[in-house]
Amino acid sequence: MTLAGCASDPARSRGRRHPEPPPRLRDEFQRDRDRIVHSTAFRRLVYKTQVFINHEGDLFRTRLTHSLEVAQLGRSMARALALNEDLAEAIALAHDLGHTPFGHAGQDALHRCMHAHGGFEHNLQSLRVVDALEARYPGFDGLNLCFETREGILKHCSLQDAQRIERDEPGGVGQRFIEGGQPSLEAQLINLADEIAYHAHDIDDGVRSGLLQFDQLLGLPMPRRHHEAARQEHPTLGARRLLFETLRRMISEQVHDLIDTTAAALRDAAPIDAQAARQCGPLVGFSAGMRAECTALKRLLMAALYRHPQVVRTTGAARLVVHELFEAYVAQPGEMPDEFARRDDRHRAVADYVAGMTDRFASREHLRLTGRDAFAIAAAST
Ligand code: MG
Repeated sequence: MTLAGCASDPARSRGRRHPEPPPRLRDEFQRDRDRIVHSTAFRRLVYKTQVFINHEGDLFRTRLTHSLEVAQLGRSMARALALNEDLAEAIALAHDLGHTPFGHAGQDALHRCMHAHGGFEHNLQSLRVVDALEARYPGFDGLNLCFETREGILKHCSLQDAQRIERDEPGGVGQRFIEGGQPSLEAQLINLADEIAYHAHDIDDGVRSGLLQFDQLLGLPMPRRHHEAARQEHPTLGARRLLFETLRRMISEQVHDLIDTTAAALRDAAPIDAQAARQCGPLVGFSAGMRAECTALKRLLMAALYRHPQVVRTTGAARLVVHELFEAYVAQPGEMPDEFARRDDRHRAVADYVAGMTDRFASREHLRLTGRDAFAIAAAST
């Protein structure tokens, strides 16, 4: 298939930090995608929480299934817009590699622990994983990915962090946060594929868990119109299938809206190549109406699900586990594996080690080092 002129072209990649001979059977972005799939951090995503703690049920999304759903949506939309599917897929599969155990609760706790030592941010950590922490190649640390993949992984970044990256890598992935400017169209696309994916699957998981009633969503126009249309077309459908059909229609509407809106924006701006597209301001997006609907959905999920007392209770326990693990390793670095224990930057080494843990490994380590089971205590306190 012919790509749009503004699509990222692997033959014109800005390259890798450590030069390597070109691949024989695949292009540069396909090689990146393959490296990500084979990384240790990628395999750990299967045991990392999205919203629900991993041990709460086998059917809930984890970071791995979330990343696969983002990749599927990203590829479909990239294909429809004649953008580079392989780059979109690589960014999608890597976008959550830096997530701590226990989702946002873990990230908040680690950020607080690292307050005096440069902070902790999962997005920046995803870049650290692919740039430095994966240890699998003889000639370099990390996965040595292309600029375009790394740029897509670093979706946001504080000015301070951007300046630090810029010192280390002049004109690199930090630059756009200093000078203003957009990442590639594929990176912009994955940002929104992420949002479409987690809204839909958090509703599904929320209803499955019993914490969210689908009726709570029917005050919003998007869920209501699809729920009503699905019910009218299939009046005898059971509740589960009706929910799936409603979610499926909601996803389709968002995908179609995004493709139509973006195609029109690309026609108007007519960037001549991928670099010109970066100078245009955001070109991938929803229509104003759909943007408002997605924001309303986000608000409702925040209030009804992410701040549900039962979710908050387990996140309290998760925070405690991460905090106490951090303190324990700072006090006794010898409790960590050698490659972390012998590092001079002790706090960052502890943050890297804890961030890489799966939910259950973090729980086991916490129990081993403190003798207490934080989740059992939280559950007993109800
Ligand atoms: Mg995500």
